[in-house]
Amino acid sequence: MDRISIVVPCFNEEEALPVYYREMKRVMGELSEVSFEILFVDDGSSDKTLEILKQLNAKDGRCEYLSFSRNFGKEAAIYAGLKHASGDYVATMDVDLQDPPGLLPEMYRILKEEPYDSVATRRATRTGEPKIRSFLSETFYKFINSISKTEIVNGARDYRLMKRIMVDAVLEMSEYNRFSKGIFGWVGFRTKWLEFQNVERSAGETKWSLRKLFSYSLEGITGFSVAPLSLASVMGVGFCALAFIMIAVIIVRTLIWGDPVAGWPSMVCIIFLVSGVQLFCLGIVGEYLAKTYLETKHRPIFILKESKVQTAGKVAGDS
Ligand code: UDP
Ligand code: MG
Repeated sequence: MDRISIVVPCFNEEEALPVYYREMKRVMGELSEVSFEILFVDDGSSDKTLEILKQLNAKDGRCEYLSFSRNFGKEAAIYAGLKHASGDYVATMDVDLQDPPGLLPEMYRILKEEPYDSVATRRATRTGEPKIRSFLSETFYKFINSISKTEIVNGARDYRLMKRIMVDAVLEMSEYNRFSKGIFGWVGFRTKWLEFQNVERSAGETKWSLRKLFSYSLEGITGFSVAPLSLASVMGVGFCALAFIMIAVIIVRTLIWGDPVAGWPSMVCIIFLVSGVQLFCLGIVGEYLAKTYLETKHRPIFILKESKVQTAGKVAGDS
């Protein structure tokens, strides 16, 4: 019997959890030939999330949980979940029903019958999202794909079903600064993309502020491309060339017309511009240096406070 593990990161999701469980129960009923494990990862919630997870576990043994000592972020939660998942197939999915659980049987069927190692999803529309947010996202994906060798699919959700072999590959990537959308692409394997219409949150509200999204984008860019570092050198060369041309022009001009003292406003402008560019480049170098610094510390990606998970060998009722 095949076993599917579903990894569900939860951060302050007391309202969304019961709705999610009800929906999943229906889906699990549909796929009766498969044994399930829903691995909720409580990412340091401050509300009743953990309590509800314990209740769910007591009621239905298929619901298991890991609980972090503090909020480590969704990426860390996904990693922890994948690490503890015992299934032959592993799915990752949000708890707010923005990733429709109803797609699971179809995803499973594809992996069973077609030559793919994973089925991923992307949303075709962004309805219900503020215009400015959609615009910034679009720009981000265009930019990152123009500078990164790993394809990062626009509108891709963290909702996918993978075979064990791909899960193990993802786990090999134990970097501290994690950007799943890039990691899933980087490991390769054949992925089939399904599209669905955007659904709004079932309950509660989004945990992503614009600021969080900005630092997430930066994570993606610095994690999967070193192009900005070359940009710094290209700009340096460009400005040097410009400076040489200016010097030549000034020398020639002075020789012909002499040197009436003028033009200091343009000089101030140039000083401002060049120092701006220098600071910008220094900032880029700093971003990468910071990443390197954090990686060299080899800190754990997450810290568990408590958990209730069955391990692969000892699963009740699994044959
Ligand atoms: N999440 C998490 N840790 C965080 C932020 C979010 O585990 O620090 C989880 C959250 O509980 C949800 C999923 O990640 O299951 C997606 O979060 P959200 O719905 O807020 O993001 P959006 O769908 O708006 O991108
Ligand atoms: Mg959501």
